[in-house]
Amino acid sequence: MHGAPLEAWRDALQDLGLMGLIRTPAPPAAAAAPPAAGGAAVRPARLAAPYAAPADPAACPPEPAVAAAASLADLERAIQGCLRCPLGPGRIRFVFGEGDPAARLMFVGEGPGRDEDLQGRPFVGKAGELLERMLGAIGLAREQVYIANVVKCRPPDNRTPAPEEARACLGYLRRQIELVQPAVLVTLGATPLRELLGIGEGITRARGQWRQLEVAGTRIPVMPTFHPAYVLRQYTPEVRRAVWEDLKAAKAWADQAGRA
Ligand code: SF4
Repeated sequence: MHGAPLEAWRDALQDLGLMGLIRTPAPPAAAAAPPAAGGAAVRPARLAAPYAAPADPAACPPEPAVAAAASLADLERAIQGCLRCPLGPGRIRFVFGEGDPAARLMFVGEGPGRDEDLQGRPFVGKAGELLERMLGAIGLAREQVYIANVVKCRPPDNRTPAPEEARACLGYLRRQIELVQPAVLVTLGATPLRELLGIGEGITRARGQWRQLEVAGTRIPVMPTFHPAYVLRQYTPEVRRAVWEDLKAAKAWADQAGRA
């Protein structure tokens, strides 16, 4: 999912909540387009036409349509053609989310990567394998939880979704949470914590501390932990133990809620 060393380093900074402290180098000035045979200018692939929200309501499902979805399947049908933000036109597959529709534990990551975009499923590839191992360590199979992301379409180069992209997509995630009604939500990495709860502090500080999210009048306990992609890059006993402690706490709470 994260091939280039520079990209991996950038992602690690994001996971640690340090990205805002690092100045992003200015992009190089766009080079003049080389003339094509016959003299017509060629538009470089990176200079795509600016995004314009489509007028078709099916491409931008209105809030009432999202609220009216009575099941996860209804919701997926209503939003799978979404082009509400600039990520939509670039996707290969829409990645809605998957798992037990009545799961007591729901996991929320950032957005699809390359493998997810190709397969249309969240958390596949190496990060997905690690998530499954993490779940196995607390006695759960992937099918017993529900897994979704803040955004449903892959950000280019696996970058963090822009705030306006996350905002455009957040209503879908909130409706997913309403429909699943999990006993506990586990946020993976800094992005879902920031976008769902407005908590911008680094995940290293925030992880392991219970928070609450109000969805449709219900307060859901939230356990923030590291993103599996970060764990893969920082595969130390300390990081793995931290995630294990967080997941154990989340599972214990969910079990207790299930017995109440
Ligand atoms: S990321 Fe979300 S809001 Fe943006 S186009 Fe995809 S589904 Fe729509």
